Amino acid sequence: MKIIIHGGFFSESGTNQETKKAKQDALSAIVSQSYTYLQTHTALETVIYAVGLLEDNELFNAGLGSQIQSDGKVRLSASLMDGKSQKFSGVINIENVKNPIQVAEQLLNYEDKVLSGGGALDFARDHGFDFFNPIIPQRQREYEQKLAQSSRIGTVGCVALDADGNLAAATSTGGKGFEIPCRVSDSATVAGNFANEYAGISCTGVGEDIVSTALAAKIVTRVTDGFTLKDASDKSFAELKTFDGFAGVIGISSKGEVYHTDSHPYMVWAAFDGSLQVFN
Ligand code: ASP
Repeated sequence: MKIIIHGGFFSESGTNQETKKAKQDALSAIVSQSYTYLQTHTALETVIYAVGLLEDNELFNAGLGSQIQSDGKVRLSASLMDGKSQKFSGVINIENVKNPIQVAEQLLNYEDKVLSGGGALDFARDHGFDFFNPIIPQRQREYEQKLAQSSRIGTVGCVALDADGNLAAATSTGGKGFEIPCRVSDSATVAGNFANEYAGISCTGVGEDIVSTALAAKIVTRVTDGFTLKDASDKSFAELKTFDGFAGVIGISSKGEVYHTDSHPYMVWAAFDGSLQVFN
């Protein structure tokens, strides 16, 4: 059993050492808690659980504490992929729900598995998701001061390998901050979140770059075709570099390889497979 989570990127201009430490502490607590959960749950159940905890933590740009779009509204995107059944579900730009990853979970049971905007919200309300305002005072202040560039905080994600050898991946984001209303992030697409029986990947970084290179699906495909997880990532990142793309990933393969990118600005991550590793 293995698990890895990420808390997105932080930029040095926007994040001080104190925040970095707080994020690392939060990630270690959440990854440990989620690893315990994985002992008695599937990979799919565990990635939903872990991303739910990350969404509830206002340090991260997902759920509570998400960034605000240029029209003053928060719109959340999240997706889920079960490596075993190969089912993908997600919500794009949903407003006023607490845990978009749990809405994605509900959608796994439907034929129509990815919903956006008002349709996603109607679906959520029909399934008992109450009104929730994810704007925290700090994000509101940043929005008002138009500090989008210097206040970037991280998306969240999780990949898990369970006791039966099944993989799953989940990713959730508040977007990039100050974007054109309803801009679509990579996080609820197969470019940003993908899993099959060979590997699972969750991405963070510039959504447009991640989509342009189909990053998560591409890395997983390469692992499926025989690459190691690291070689699959290295080759895919070399392709991303050709157009100066910016991204980070976490991943696990069915062979038990656990992978995370090291890049700048740093991506905060934590992994647990019996012993804890945290960091950037
Ligand atoms: N990938 C996310 C987006 O472009 C942002 C992030 O990962 O920080 O919306």
